[in-house]
Amino acid sequence: MGAHTYLGRCGDIIMWVEDWTPRAACRVAQPDQLFVRGAEQNKAKQVCAGCPVRTECLAEALDNQIEWGVWGGMTERERRALLRRRPAASWRTVLETARNEGAKLAHAHAHAPASV
Ligand code: SF4
Repeated sequence: MGAHTYLGRCGDIIMWVEDWTPRAACRVAQPDQLFVRGAEQNKAKQVCAGCPVRTECLAEALDNQIEWGVWGGMTERERRALLRRRPAASWRTVLETARNEGAKLAHAHAHAPASV
């Protein structure tokens, strides 16, 4: 396993998985489950809910403006809304930063002295 395929933490930083597709939860699902319309998309999103590379997947879809299917737990419609709000964003940077900030907060909270 190379450094880029390791999924884990380095201090408070959750390492970004460059080669994320081998870890995709949908690899064991039927591929057609993610490319559906309407209410079926909610089922597709459930596949993503427990995916360990959800953030990487979502960044890929946003940065490449992929217009079809559920990626990273978001439908194409939901992704379009994000792209309209921040059209020039590097979504990898945005999502990686947000994830690491969340991890730092969780770490600080877990190690805070218990209140009496
Ligand atoms: S987030 Fe969803 S679409 Fe993306 S890799 Fe994971 S299971 Fe597949």
